[in-house]
Amino acid sequence: MFYTSTRDKSVKLTASQAILKGISDEGGLLVPAQLSHITLEKIAEMAKLSYIERAKIILSEFLTDFTPEELDSCLAGAYEKSKFSSEAIAPTVHIDGSKNILELWHGPTCAFKDMALQLLPYLMSVSAKKAAAGRQIVILVATSGDTGKAALEGFKNVENTKILVFYPENGVSPTQKLQMLTQEGDNVYVSAVKGNFDDAQSAVKEIFTNSTVKAALNSAGMMFSSANSINWGRLVPQIVYYFSSYCDLINMNEIKLGDKVNFTVPTGNFGNILAAFYAKQMGLPVNRLICASNSNNVLTDFINGGTYNKNRQFYTTTSPSMDILISSNLERLLYHLSNEDENTIKNLMQSLAENGTYTVSDDLLKNVSKFFDAGWADEAGIFATIKKHFESYGYLLDTHTAAAVKVYDDYVKKTGDLTPTVIDSTASPYKFSKDVLSAVLGSEYTGSDAQEELFRLSQMPVPAPITALKGKKVRFSNVCTKEDMPSFVKKCLE
Ligand SMILES: *Cc1c(COP(=O)(O)O)cnc(C)c1O
Repeated sequence: MFYTSTRDKSVKLTASQAILKGISDEGGLLVPAQLSHITLEKIAEMAKLSYIERAKIILSEFLTDFTPEELDSCLAGAYEKSKFSSEAIAPTVHIDGSKNILELWHGPTCAFKDMALQLLPYLMSVSAKKAAAGRQIVILVATSGDTGKAALEGFKNVENTKILVFYPENGVSPTQKLQMLTQEGDNVYVSAVKGNFDDAQSAVKEIFTNSTVKAALNSAGMMFSSANSINWGRLVPQIVYYFSSYCDLINMNEIKLGDKVNFTVPTGNFGNILAAFYAKQMGLPVNRLICASNSNNVLTDFINGGTYNKNRQFYTTTSPSMDILISSNLERLLYHLSNEDENTIKNLMQSLAENGTYTVSDDLLKNVSKFFDAGWADEAGIFATIKKHFESYGYLLDTHTAAAVKVYDDYVKKTGDLTPTVIDSTASPYKFSKDVLSAVLGSEYTGSDAQEELFRLSQMPVPAPITALKGKKVRFSNVCTKEDMPSFVKKCLE
């Protein structure tokens, strides 16, 4: 299996090269040049296996330059039992009628990003041995909250890697800040940056591309890489849980082998739902892919009308991981649905960069409509859905998952489609205790311990990593300006 670029089809890379590179030199995203087919017989076999064994089957289709032993050791490290609060790793729970929930938040940071960021560091270490002469990998991350912690937790103490995370001093929630400042591990570094997320992000990009810094790293036997969501190594682990959830539905007698299912996904950067698209293209019986947004509904408008326009009001919502106006991974979908036409993609992306907007052809929009439905939920809709779901089923939804549930309920009302559906649940409700509790109460919670109160009401267990936070030692206190970031990097790497 080889990987090519959405903007230059002459690019041809192995899986390990693609994972190390992250993004293609001309700015395109790396995509598999062809997809393999998983038969129904194979899916029936997978249904009898554990999550790790299912993952091995899917990953070996994509990471063809990894040996079976390498895959085994990567998977055993990533999905080690002690790190996940569910033995199933990503369990599917039946709620009612056609509605099922895929819980993707049982990992160490209680958000779905763990599913990929637990595995990526292992994939990178092996890739570095194959494609970078064993050079040490230095990961730089600018984060608005969730990604930084999940990456730190994934890369901590992983051989031959170092990770440096920058977050905006006043731009993350108290829980997210504490999660990062108490991070354990001998190869991890964290610093606050004076400024906002965009300041941190642009400074990281500058360091990445600075040729003097790169040369210095090179002579010290190191190289930069990136853990952000356009890296293929973050997408491929996500394809696994769509197959796995389908297998679980068979085992739960919710479906029979070969029956079609819908997936509904709370979407930001379009990485999670794109993995579902790849699963369908590989033969998983999927009916509709339903893309759910919050008030930042740029994707809803695109999927329903064919025009992508980021020139609009940006809303700060209670589902911050979906507060995105440039959905990077959409580029991969458009590449596949435009007959892999690199020129179409180059033109669309140039228009996005220059004007903040593009409109696709009728044919391309028709292709998008063959796979996707889309909707969005406002803050009131999200809060009402959390309350209703808790009252009807005793099941707590976080704010992101609630957006998806609301969009799914609207979809059923509109279409009458009662195909069994899996809704991705992307975060533990305890990551957003105050908002979830306020939703359940029907008015803003003003007390001091939302987490405890939410537990008292719901009796749903608080994930251990969140409980443990209270007693942890703060290890990092560095605060720097944007201009000081390169010297902080230098100091950490000495
Ligand atoms: C990152 C994130 C999302 C969005 O996922 P994408 O792959 O960016 O579409 C949704 N919910 C939560 C909780 C997240 O952390």
